[in-house]
Amino acid sequence: MSITSILQEVFGYQVFRGPQQAIIEHVTSGGDALVLMPTGGGKSLCYQIPAIARRAAGQGITVVISPLIALMHDQVGALHEAGVKAEFLNSTLSFEQASQVERRLLAGDITLLYAAPERVNTPRFLAQLDALQERGHLSLFAIDEAHCVSQWGHDFRPEYRALTVLHERYPTVPRIALTATADALTRADIIERLQLQDARLFISSFDRPNIRYTIVEKREATQQLLRFIQDEHMGDAGVVYCQSRKKVEDTADLLCDNGIAALPYHAGLDAKVRQANQDRFLRSEGIVMVATIAFGMGIDKPDVRFVAHLDMPKNIEGYYQETGRAGRDGEPADAWMCYGLQDVVNQRRMIDESPAEEEFKQGLRGKLDALLGLAEATDCRRVRLLRYFDEASTDCGNCDNCLQAPDVWDATDAARKLLSTVYRVQQMSGFGFGAGHIVDILRGKVTEKVTQRRHDTLSTFGIGAELSETQWRAVLRQLLAIGAVAVDAQAFNTLALTEVSRAVLKGEVPIRLRTSAPKTATRKSRRTSHTTAPKTLATLDLHQQRRFTALKAWRAGVAKEHNLPAYVIFHDATLAAIAQTAPQSLEQLQGISGLGVRKLEAYGEAVLQVMRED
Ligand code: ADP
Ligand code: ZN
Repeated sequence: MSITSILQEVFGYQVFRGPQQAIIEHVTSGGDALVLMPTGGGKSLCYQIPAIARRAAGQGITVVISPLIALMHDQVGALHEAGVKAEFLNSTLSFEQASQVERRLLAGDITLLYAAPERVNTPRFLAQLDALQERGHLSLFAIDEAHCVSQWGHDFRPEYRALTVLHERYPTVPRIALTATADALTRADIIERLQLQDARLFISSFDRPNIRYTIVEKREATQQLLRFIQDEHMGDAGVVYCQSRKKVEDTADLLCDNGIAALPYHAGLDAKVRQANQDRFLRSEGIVMVATIAFGMGIDKPDVRFVAHLDMPKNIEGYYQETGRAGRDGEPADAWMCYGLQDVVNQRRMIDESPAEEEFKQGLRGKLDALLGLAEATDCRRVRLLRYFDEASTDCGNCDNCLQAPDVWDATDAARKLLSTVYRVQQMSGFGFGAGHIVDILRGKVTEKVTQRRHDTLSTFGIGAELSETQWRAVLRQLLAIGAVAVDAQAFNTLALTEVSRAVLKGEVPIRLRTSAPKTATRKSRRTSHTTAPKTLATLDLHQQRRFTALKAWRAGVAKEHNLPAYVIFHDATLAAIAQTAPQSLEQLQGISGLGVRKLEAYGEAVLQVMRED
């Protein structure tokens, strides 16, 4: 069977996307590959089609290593829907269930076997692979989420390190490793750890043009979030990331109180509750998941319309990964982050206080700085994001800064005043002070502390009265972001000068800040010009919308019966295409994207029935 006919007949897609064809040809003919492709780019087909093609050619089974135990059931279910023989082995199976899968494995009755990495290195599993190999039935290893092997990645899994056994023990079996993390350091680590030096490297563009990036200044974060959802995403599925478990719980409660269907997800919840919440997010429409970063890897829900960050991630990879979970269907989606002084302080402190080696910490600081640069940027966010992944691009027209050039002001002088105040109080009192007190001095506020310390006699007392407290905090945030001031967490968060301070004090480093308050017009024009309702649906007329609704109701029933998310049965886009063409026969149904031979057989008649009832 040719790879094109597998694409069309099994998966119901007419053409390959981006580099898929080159990758699939390479792997099908036995080459090793490392595939870097953004979320939603279509990585799964890159190993599923070779697996089917090689099995058909008598080369045996493909073993897929994936850390996503909670999602394997759905992944395998999706393959069953397409008529592909797939099974999984992980800790959720009973002994009997696992034994049955093992029997079928050895009988050669499986095309793709999904396995958790911790299983791979067990003597029992290796003995089974040995048996397959002896018979020439071990066709391919696919290592999904390959960045888990790297401690530079944000999802490091020690079990991934042990996967070297695959190559050492079965050197003739081809391997394909896949990840959506593009960062050079992580990439080098994957190649080294998985011994992929000779593999062909396939790197796609990491741009996600349908995602709109917005980063706003944090004031009352949860209220800002609430307004963002109410203004632009009522009824949409979304993910809200928070740093702490408590904040996850509080935020989910607040959203629920305001009529938004929100659920919490964090590692502190009982595993059953977590799985139930994840299932509800995947299986119902319009749920907002409020989560720590424990949530999200491998979530293949296509219609997540927004990802919001209430706290700043650790680095650009994290930000890119998490925001990347929006809009996998290619329809408009939002990445929204709310960011403030405290985020900078917290992230810096977490690095300082971690027990890691100094060299490693330096690496982390560099990565944090890159993200701070993105957050403070007054130019195109996407250009910066892609540049971080070594990709050149031009202004995107689909980020906050492109849509509305921010007003900026020259804060170079203000920065010098702030730093010299930090310097002077330290000189005078022999120790440092926190941000609040420094700002009071600059603004000439006579507080008890000021009088007591006689800081009103400083030459900088009151020299910054023309700026508001918010403006001063923005100056401070920028100085923290570029490392011109440090916060000493061991000493009541007092501010201290750094190596970089001198250049700023001398006026050698221009500091440009965005004017705090966004103009009210910004949000209005945004709301009218931008609706995140999927394009495909927006083009349906009234009749077609009615059919679409009927098809969705039918799909919900099937999904429930099969215990699978609705999008595994058919994507919205497939239903929209059916609603648009209103097919009256199986011939007319054939060729609609997403309808392979098996689905046509299984559901064709039922879909036509829905059309007839219209
Ligand atoms: P990821 O790279 O994030 O793993 P997936 O493999 O889940 O992405 O693919 C994302 C979506 O795109 C899936 O719904 C998949 O069915 C769809 N897709 C993949 N390849 C094609 C193609 N050639 N034509 C149409 N849809 C495709
Ligand atoms: Zn832009």
